[in-house]
Amino acid sequence: MRLILLGAPGAGKGTQSEFLMKLFNIPIISTGNLLRENISKNTTLGQRAKEYMDEGKLVPDELIIELVKSRLEQGDCDNGMILDGFPRTIPQAIALDEMLDELEMAINYVLEVEVPDETIIERVSGRTVCSSCSASYHKVYNVEAVVGTCDKCEGELVQRNDDKEETVKKRLEVYHEQTSPLVGFYEKQGKLVHVDGVGLVNEVRERIKKALGVE
Ligand code: AMP
Repeated sequence: MRLILLGAPGAGKGTQSEFLMKLFNIPIISTGNLLRENISKNTTLGQRAKEYMDEGKLVPDELIIELVKSRLEQGDCDNGMILDGFPRTIPQAIALDEMLDELEMAINYVLEVEVPDETIIERVSGRTVCSSCSASYHKVYNVEAVVGTCDKCEGELVQRNDDKEETVKKRLEVYHEQTSPLVGFYEKQGKLVHVDGVGLVNEVRERIKKALGVE
């Protein structure tokens, strides 16, 4: 199964990708997480990406495409993968099609998780992530067992730099301008599947299973 998760920041892509990873036994490729890893290791890519990320802007296509290319070459994607947060622009989608063509692979589904902007702003303000494994939590919808500690790896939960309200608003603007045209792009390819992303994590999970035809 090769799956793209499309949706605004905070739509629940990261949270839902975890059950999909287990269900299909395939890796998650999250460009946001890969970039944050580069920032914490202070790599050249991390240093270049940070200034864009802190302002809620997209990191330039050429940097992202290179990052995904080298990630796909790691050889663990033969059975498929979940792309979370990539592609985010039409040039990235075209580059992805070219990369997959070369590997004789193709995307099966593009799952669009739809959540209104007001709900996103409310959700993201309560969100924390594990500083060690990047798992995502929420103070109302997905509460950790021990306050401030990751259930999975006991890492420290922190708020992301770009989850401040002003930055989230900018990220939503960028999503509507640069990423939402991908809906039409994948609709034309006959790969787009819509899911209502409002509700509890479990409810959305069931809708995703139904949309993908898996139980
Ligand atoms: P995310 O964790 O997916 O919300 O991504 C956090 C930030 O990383 C975004 O706001 C962008 O600045 C950057 N980023 C992640 N993925 C991409 C991408 N595919 N293209 C450009 N920038 C990206």
